[in-house]
Amino acid sequence: MITPPQAAEIPGAKHLHSGKVRDLYELESGELLMVASDRMSAFDWILEPPIPDKGKVLTAMSLWWFEQLDVPNHIISTDVPAELAGRAVVCERLEMLPVECVARGYLSGSGLVDYNATGEVCGIPLRPGLVEGSRLDEPIFTPATKADLGEHDENVSYDAVVATVGAETAEALRTLTLDIYARAHALAEQHGIILADTKFEFGRRPDGTLVLADEVLTPDSSRFWPAGEWSPGKQQPSYDKQIVRDWLQFESGWDRHSGDAPPAMSVEVVERTRAAYIDAYESLTGQTFTS
Ligand code: ATP
Ligand code: MG
Repeated sequence: MITPPQAAEIPGAKHLHSGKVRDLYELESGELLMVASDRMSAFDWILEPPIPDKGKVLTAMSLWWFEQLDVPNHIISTDVPAELAGRAVVCERLEMLPVECVARGYLSGSGLVDYNATGEVCGIPLRPGLVEGSRLDEPIFTPATKADLGEHDENVSYDAVVATVGAETAEALRTLTLDIYARAHALAEQHGIILADTKFEFGRRPDGTLVLADEVLTPDSSRFWPAGEWSPGKQQPSYDKQIVRDWLQFESGWDRHSGDAPPAMSVEVVERTRAAYIDAYESLTGQTFTS
C-alpha cells in the first residue's frame, strides 16, 4: 500500500493532507505549514526505508531556487517549530491548479516512452532520430494530470490543459513553466549541471495571481545530469531519483506492473541516493549541506 505513515501531531497545527513526500498542516493564522519528510517515492510508491536528511535537502534546495527565481512564490517564512527546523516552511495556502507543469529540454523518462511510441510528447511532434538523453531543439511544455494518491500521473496534451483550466490560464502556465525552466537551466549550467527536465506546481491567490508553489527544482521533481558526462544514447548518470528508479527497474528484481509493493532499498542504494541529493544541492548552491 502507499498510504503515507500517520503524520506527526504538531501543537497549534491541524493536519490537512499527507502526500507521498510532504505533510501539510494548517496553522492558526490560516497559513500552511509544509513539512518535507525523508520519504522517497518512485513509480508512485513510497519506498522503504526513508533517505536520511532528504526532506532537509529538498527544503534547502527549494528555498535557494525560490530566491534565484524572480516569480511570485508561496513562501512566507522558515520560522517553524524547532523539531522541524530545516525541513518545513510556512507558506501561503493557495488554490492549487490540477496540472503538473513539466518542462523538458532533453528526452528521458515518460517523454522518451511517448516519443518512441508516437513520435510526439504530449501532442508535440519531435524530429525523428532522438534517443535517451537527446537535447531537444527547444524546451517543450509537457503537462501531466495531477493524480490522486496511488494513481499515476499521465501526460496530457496542451488542449487537455485548456479544457481543464481555460485558455488564458493554460497559456500563462505554459509561459511561466518555460520561462522558469530556461532561467533555471542556464543557472544550473553555470554549475556544471544539466537540468534535463522539471515539474512545477502553481496555485492561485484569492486575487487570481498565479504563484509558484510546492517544491521547486529539486532532485525529486527534476532530472539533474553532470554536464561533463552527458552522452545521449544511454541512461545518463544523474543526481536525482533516477538512481532509485534504475535500481528498482534493473536490479531489484521488482516487476513494476505486478501491483506488488517494491522491495526495500539496500543500505547501499539509500546511501548512494542520499549522497547524490546532497551533491546536487552543494554543486548548485556552492553551499555545504549541514543536517
Ligand atoms: P498528492 O498530494 O496528490 O498525494 P504528492 O504525492 O506529490 O501528491 P506531496 O508532494 O508529498 O504530494 O505533497 C505536497 C502537496 O501539497 C501536493 O498535493 C501539492 O499540490 C500541495 N501544495 C504545495 N504547495 C501548496 C500550497 N501553497 N497550497 C496548497 N497546497 C499546496
Ligand atoms: Mg508532489
